[in-house]
Amino acid sequence: MSWAERISPTVNAVPPSGIRRFFDIAAEMKGVISLGVGEPDFITPWHIRESCVHGLHKGYTAYTSNYGLLELREEIARTIYNNYNVTYDPRKEALVTVGVSEALDLAIRAVLHPGDEVLIPEPCYVSYKACVLLAGGKPVPVPTNMEHEFRVTVEQLEKLISPRTKALLIGYPNNPTGAIMPKAELEAIARFATKHDLIVISDEIYADLTYHGTHTCFASLPDMRERTILLNGFSKAYAMTGWRIGYALSNPDFIAAMNKIHQYTMLCAPITAQIGAIEALRHGKDKMEKMVAEYDSRRQLMLNGLRSMDISCFEPKGAFYIFPSIKETGLTSLQFAEELLKTEKVAVVPGDAFGDSGEGFIRCSYASSISNLSEALERIGRFIKRYQ
Ligand code: PLP
Repeated sequence: MSWAERISPTVNAVPPSGIRRFFDIAAEMKGVISLGVGEPDFITPWHIRESCVHGLHKGYTAYTSNYGLLELREEIARTIYNNYNVTYDPRKEALVTVGVSEALDLAIRAVLHPGDEVLIPEPCYVSYKACVLLAGGKPVPVPTNMEHEFRVTVEQLEKLISPRTKALLIGYPNNPTGAIMPKAELEAIARFATKHDLIVISDEIYADLTYHGTHTCFASLPDMRERTILLNGFSKAYAMTGWRIGYALSNPDFIAAMNKIHQYTMLCAPITAQIGAIEALRHGKDKMEKMVAEYDSRRQLMLNGLRSMDISCFEPKGAFYIFPSIKETGLTSLQFAEELLKTEKVAVVPGDAFGDSGEGFIRCSYASSISNLSEALERIGRFIKRYQ
């Protein structure tokens, strides 16, 4: 038997990430403008880096509690209370993780029985379905569409519920579409979750990157605190992707179950990152808001630029992605992304990387400088003309 044949079928069932592939190709070409990866182009603010350096000077280099430094958990609970008026006990209801990525994996593994179904509005972040598959569950995509601004509705969810549905996994502001959900629509989804007794895993990593109105935290809705596993982190809002730090908040049973996996597989999040995260929450708001304002200008530049080329484009209201339709070119999203990269050296992600309902779209990240974005728009314009 070959080595490849010995790989677990569960792992084989998970397709490789469609994002990384383009990132790798683009990295090997010269002169490419990458709108491919969802990563801030800012460096982590200096005061956060300095707090980490200071911690190292003081000799903070050891393991922490599995749950994370209590000081950080307290800061997280305080922030969530201040922002959304939801109370969590930092000793029992908070877990510090290695990014939202780990928190997502833990949440799914902690609650799924083999064969359990998870409703996932789509297009969605690439890890959602993969994590469900790796946990032995069954992802059930719930297609959303541009006409309804990529917001999921209760009617769509009702159509796909089954006796095996255990959880609903939502991520708003959304990657890749930039969609947000108005409070009233989230309330309807909360009633749906109660009616079907579902666990809700709410990935709110882009909560601070909301450009229209204010973000509604799912756990703040009536009766949702207990059944929600709220995920958030530092990668996007504080430009801390490489630090690998995030967190989960939920009822003590879910958090203890997640910690059971975490203590054996991860032990704890890196102490240096935890120290930086405390500083981010205590003193990082101003710098974060400046970055968000900058993303907002770029968002408008991209939206106006794409619309001026007669590309049909939903206005993204959160995160740092724009998801234009490329249907009128007659190309598939993969063909479009490949040709654009080859002929104009602009890297974007084909929409089908985020699920079947992403076909016909491309994802452009605007976490890039205004000059890069302007040049990318020019190149996209040139490219599109050939198909109009
Ligand atoms: N959730 C969403 C929606 C994301 O877009 C990402 C990263 O792109 C993550 C989670 C992972 O974030 P982290 O860096 O905290 O692991």
